[in-house]
Amino acid sequence: MDVSAADKLAAIQERIARAQQRFGPPPTAVTLVAVSKTFPAEAIEPFLEAGQRVFGENRVQEAKDKWPALRERYPDVKLHLIGPLQTNKAREAVALFDVIETLDRDRLAGVLAEEMTKAGRQLPCFVQVNIGLEPQKAGIAPDETVDFVARCRSPHGLNVVGLMCIPPDGVPPGPYFAQMMALARDAGVAELSMGMSGDFEIAIGMGASHVRLGSALFGGRPPAA
Ligand SMILES: *Cc1c(COP(=O)(O)O)cnc(C)c1O
Repeated sequence: MDVSAADKLAAIQERIARAQQRFGPPPTAVTLVAVSKTFPAEAIEPFLEAGQRVFGENRVQEAKDKWPALRERYPDVKLHLIGPLQTNKAREAVALFDVIETLDRDRLAGVLAEEMTKAGRQLPCFVQVNIGLEPQKAGIAPDETVDFVARCRSPHGLNVVGLMCIPPDGVPPGPYFAQMMALARDAGVAELSMGMSGDFEIAIGMGASHVRLGSALFGGRPPAA
């Protein structure tokens, strides 16, 4: 039997609530970002109907193809960009998304700031941290994060609200999440986007304010091309 989108959301919300109780000192709100990358509008719609409003996409073009039509019917959707952003796509990204989670270099910060000013849209941003210092992953190095956040705020003038990371595969993520929590404190940001389908409860235990869940909601994706 096919489990409904509403049942899947309720089960995940229940696990989020339990993780908050299990680990918490004071349980902060946790925002569920439903990662709909690679899934067509037909797969997303049941989740919209079930009340989910925050979604993550990793490509500008794909978001542009799928979301404007969905937004007409669900205008209160909040779309997070969770994939790498090229500067030549910054203008489109500012028009399409509500939150940028992958701010990772000065040149991008400069271009985004300019495009946000032009568009009259100051989007909240997360700085992506390459917490495992992995060559194949984007993100600012942990020891450069505090200075980078400061530069994004001034001179760039961006509204940096938090940090985001994708920890290394195949090793326990807890120590990386703990390092993120310390970095967020040092950088003076309140939000932490960390935790995916396989490890979100651990991330919540380390202070995640946003968890990004794809396969736990939408099922498996074909391997990335
Ligand atoms: C795909 C993706 C996710 C979701 O991953 P799941 O393991 O399917 O939950 C989260 N964050 C980022 C940045 C992603 O690219």
